[in-house]
Amino acid sequence: MRFAVLSDIHANLEALTKVLQKAYESEPDLIACVGDIVGYGPYPNECIDLIRQQCACVVLGNHDGGAVGRVPPKSFNTEGRIALEWTRDQLTTSNREFLQNLPASVVSYNATFVHASPRLPLDWEYVATLRTATEMFEHFSTAYCCIGHTHIPSILAADGTVNSIRDGQKHLINVGSVGQPRDGNPRASFALLDTETSAASIIRVEYDVSATATAIRQAGLPEFLAKRLQYGI
Ligand code: ZN
Repeated sequence: MRFAVLSDIHANLEALTKVLQKAYESEPDLIACVGDIVGYGPYPNECIDLIRQQCACVVLGNHDGGAVGRVPPKSFNTEGRIALEWTRDQLTTSNREFLQNLPASVVSYNATFVHASPRLPLDWEYVATLRTATEMFEHFSTAYCCIGHTHIPSILAADGTVNSIRDGQKHLINVGSVGQPRDGNPRASFALLDTETSAASIIRVEYDVSATATAIRQAGLPEFLAKRLQYGI
């Protein structure tokens, strides 16, 4: 099975459009989204519509939950909270229902898909250190577990190997963020995973960062949300 796996789109339509174009070049069997379609960015409905059309597998992110009352506002920082209040007012009834019904995790073709961590999918813990990442392997039974949430891409095998797939090992793949990368690289991030040939890679894609920043400002969203995209922070 050849997957393209997207995460943390955060209502960034320019980035999502470019990532989907790039993903289709490798003719995946299935496109999966591991959450946070909305929050921070200016195009929540457009991004949900595209994800609904293109992704056969979608799981809930904390911002998706925050936009429809499934995750309490106090768990977000100030900019995140302001953007979620704005997002809540934009959502169509159909898209609100879609977010309302997203599952916390999905297992498909020897891969587990979950937004933050397979240990406690609805606790939104950050798998941000090698130590935490190592603890994850006992919490999924498939060969691959795809996550997002930190907005920092990485591939880790259970034997400690990074950035490559090891035969017979489990793998934790953080696919990075489509719409708000935070690894100092402003290019959109997603992952390609082939469970038959045992190959995985992180792909980076240029998009029009300034167009998204302008739309964020025009929507009246916090300035920092526009500025950070330029730096990938
Ligand atoms: Zn996110």
